[in-house]
Amino acid sequence: MIGMLTDGPTETPASSEKAPSNFIRDIIIQDIQNGKNNGRVHTRFPPEPNGYLHIGHAKSICLNFGLAKDFGGKCNLRFDDTNPSKEETEYVDSIIKDVRWLGFDWEDRIFYASDYFEQLFQWAVQLIQQGQAYVCDLTAEQVRETRGTTTEPGVESPYRNRSIEENLDLFHRMRAGEFPDGSRTLRSKIDMASPNFNMRDPVMYRILRAEHHRTGNDWLIYPMYDYAHGECDSIEGITHSICTLEFEDHRPLYDWYVASLGIHRPQQIEFDRLNITNTMLSKRKLLMLVQKGFVSGWDDPRMPTLSGIRRRGYTPEAIRNFCGSIGVSKSNGVIELALLEHHIREDLNKRARRVMAVIDPIKVVIDNYPDGQTEEHMAPNHPDAPEMGSRAVPFSKVLYIERDDFREVPPPKYHRLFPGQEVRLRYAYFIKCVSVEKDENGEVTVVHCTYDPASRGGDSPDGRKVKSTIHWVSAEHALDFEARLYESLLLEDAPQSEDLATQINPNSLVVRPDAKIEPCVKGVEANTHFQFERVGYFNVDSDSTDEKLVCNRTVQLRDAWAKIEKKAK
Ligand code: ATP
Ligand code: MG
Repeated sequence: MIGMLTDGPTETPASSEKAPSNFIRDIIIQDIQNGKNNGRVHTRFPPEPNGYLHIGHAKSICLNFGLAKDFGGKCNLRFDDTNPSKEETEYVDSIIKDVRWLGFDWEDRIFYASDYFEQLFQWAVQLIQQGQAYVCDLTAEQVRETRGTTTEPGVESPYRNRSIEENLDLFHRMRAGEFPDGSRTLRSKIDMASPNFNMRDPVMYRILRAEHHRTGNDWLIYPMYDYAHGECDSIEGITHSICTLEFEDHRPLYDWYVASLGIHRPQQIEFDRLNITNTMLSKRKLLMLVQKGFVSGWDDPRMPTLSGIRRRGYTPEAIRNFCGSIGVSKSNGVIELALLEHHIREDLNKRARRVMAVIDPIKVVIDNYPDGQTEEHMAPNHPDAPEMGSRAVPFSKVLYIERDDFREVPPPKYHRLFPGQEVRLRYAYFIKCVSVEKDENGEVTVVHCTYDPASRGGDSPDGRKVKSTIHWVSAEHALDFEARLYESLLLEDAPQSEDLATQINPNSLVVRPDAKIEPCVKGVEANTHFQFERVGYFNVDSDSTDEKLVCNRTVQLRDAWAKIEKKAK
């Protein structure tokens, strides 16, 4: 019998020894050999809580937590919450949930940049005292205008040479709320002629009256990311601060702050951002999709967010395998969506129970089968995993098959059901189409067949062959369900514009309200995975209720990536 309605066996993630080498691992191995940081490895994953995590973040999470694990080190979860206006507790909660779901553990090391606001303030005071920071009265626009160009140096601020005493006084008064928002900033005094823009007296603090999700209204000034990040890493004793390539030009500044303050210096290492074909990986744009109602929420199964793909039926194991397979490099590229889907299939193939479901049903009546009779056919829950058991599939006179598995006039090379043609009903019998019923529009509504009682179980009674095997469900016994079929949310040739409406694939969600499925799935929990034989991998959506079953198509069966790989060999 079917046994417990849970997924099949799961595999533990690939062991660390098997992890392929990459340039970051090589740096760490070198550092350990050289006794740097006393051989410690301590990384962090530093999300800004201004949206939900997406599959791009998964790459960073797998890398940071994975390296720590591989080298017996630690990885912190740190919220980079220095920008109060866009950050919310909802995002913090979702991030915690998503990192856990991916399978990683920060133990008790969950931190917030805002925990360090006082220390960051004191360090800013230290930089002022060292003559390395000053209060500037230029507006944000004036600061921008005086930054110079790639060919010309910037213009030094007229406030650059204020005395240390005046700077200390003004900075404390900024904190005390004596000045309006945006009227002054604290800037580092570095080099307005530096070829690196980030070194041209970057802003460290701005005045901003905004409620912070953790510190409330305690602060009227907030540190900039570049100022805060390295110090937060330093406070936590981070050894390797791994970030994406766009921060490469910020590294001199990162180093300047920790060197000027004389504190522990973590080593910043940059790697390539994950980009996937046809996939939007920017929290800002994903937020727009949510706000403008193009999707039902951050966890819409079409979203590339971790909450979206979790609901869609992607598994943490598959995502980890995918992230492991793409490696890390020093130049940005684009990964084929087909590769991600390949890993999803590989994993679901192992764990998903097989059942028969008909997405677009058409009725079949077996004319020579006794009225009112029911019998059962045994079907394995997994072709290669006998331990997953088997189930009894009820069979009766009236069945449903897939509309596409029948043609009144078959096109060339069509081997499924048509008048006069015999096919196998999976696990059941050979049936032959004898006639059809049509409605007033000439549409076929019922397919009449006869069955061969000698072919019970689907075995040929006399060696005669059929060219195809189709799936079916018994009309009387089947459960109704809603099938949600997804395609890419973005059009393949979507224009690279801010106008999202022009980029959305109108077929990204197709709902099939009349789908039918074997009764064995009754009562299954949300997110149980299935392979609907011949149709695709599906899972039970969280919208399901006792009255209404809803299933998402996680991924189709056809594996484009496997074909690409085969060709390459
Ligand atoms: P987005 O542009 O989507 O908002 P972000 O980089 O601003 O991304 P953060 O919350 O700052 O988002 O990211 C946390 C960490 O995840 C950072 O270290 C960042 O480099 C990394 N990260 C973000 N996007 C990707 C990606 N596509 N591939 C790899 N790492 C990423
Ligand atoms: Mg960011």
